[in-house]
Amino acid sequence: MRADVITIFPDYLAPLDLSLIGQARRRGLLDLHVHDLRDFTHDRHRTVDDTPYGGGAGMVMKPEPWGEALDHVVSGHDGRPVLVVPGPGGAPFTQQMARELAGRNWLVFGCGRYEGIDERVYEDAARLADVRVVSLGDYVLNGGEVAVLAMIEAVMRLVPGVIGNAESLVEESHEGGLLEYPVYTKPARWRGRDVPEVLLSGDHGRIATWRHEQRLERTAARRPDLLHTASALTSTGFGELAVTVATPADLGELLTLTHACWLQEALGNHTLDIPAVHETLESLTTSLQGWQTYAVRSGGRLVASVRGRLVDDDWHIGRLMVAPDLQGRGLGRMLLEHIQRVAPAGATAYSLVTGAASDRNHRMYRKAGFRLVADPETPGIVHFVKRRR
Ligand code: SAM
Repeated sequence: MRADVITIFPDYLAPLDLSLIGQARRRGLLDLHVHDLRDFTHDRHRTVDDTPYGGGAGMVMKPEPWGEALDHVVSGHDGRPVLVVPGPGGAPFTQQMARELAGRNWLVFGCGRYEGIDERVYEDAARLADVRVVSLGDYVLNGGEVAVLAMIEAVMRLVPGVIGNAESLVEESHEGGLLEYPVYTKPARWRGRDVPEVLLSGDHGRIATWRHEQRLERTAARRPDLLHTASALTSTGFGELAVTVATPADLGELLTLTHACWLQEALGNHTLDIPAVHETLESLTTSLQGWQTYAVRSGGRLVASVRGRLVDDDWHIGRLMVAPDLQGRGLGRMLLEHIQRVAPAGATAYSLVTGAASDRNHRMYRKAGFRLVADPETPGIVHFVKRRR
């Protein structure tokens, strides 16, 4: 990963020499270049700001030094970088965006100061780079440097090799749309407080169930907005859709929807030998613990669902279902996109199975970039796989 940072305070970026990011630089995983914007000025005072047209308080960063700096940084190298300009009016910086940026091999960061950068710089830079204005949060900082430090750290820890134990990325907060479960270390009793008994049990199944419940509870208590990922599925022509992580309260309707959808699938494939057709409240309850299940509601009615589970580094996608009366309108395709988007950082591939005769599903999966892989051992069923970018 190459990263260039343009700033009037190059010293602000010094912490990037420390800790894991510093090590990543020394090991050649991050090729970082910090540029002083004032090196691209031509007056005695190295001026980078001027008064705003139209009046008003504060100063605005002049376009000429920015234009020259960006030309210098970008031209002369192969490829087209992403230019990230931090700004409180930008798109929110999220784990998903960090993951996207970690997949690029060249990022340029432009740190604004004062009232910001002359707007024409953004327009002109689009010749050279994919420009993204990105906000660290709904508050105002004095400059972009602190935001760039945070973004580089969040992005770099997702670049393979930067964090020694990649496993530790998998269940972190914001992976899979939930916050992390509480963590404990020795001693088992401290100031009269015991570590939860389940964690000392050695029963990995119980521990996984407990942790998943804790993730749900904690997310509901601290960040209920994360359970509602409705924005992922807006403008669908279905009205307002609410996508939530399914909880036991959804089980009754989920069971009905499962039977309705898979009975239809069974008829199409001329077999009743499909596990979903025989789903019970009990088996569905258990599945909620092992799988990350999403429920989609329209006007309060549960109309669709999908689930995912990480097995090694493979994100298994299952039970993609849309109420029979709403099929063929793009909801399945959107859910398929959704479940890929929320896959944890550790996932390197997606996989799913479907009926050999489910032509409509085959078309949807192929369109979404999945590839059919033969499995002669399970007649009537086919596998689809896709590598994660
Ligand atoms: N006048 C600007 C506005 O209201 O949008 C705020 C300018 S701020 C004082 C100066 C610089 O700090 C911005 O150009 C940007 O680089 C950075 N900055 C401030 N708040 C930020 C945030 N929440 N996220 C990212 N960068 C921010």
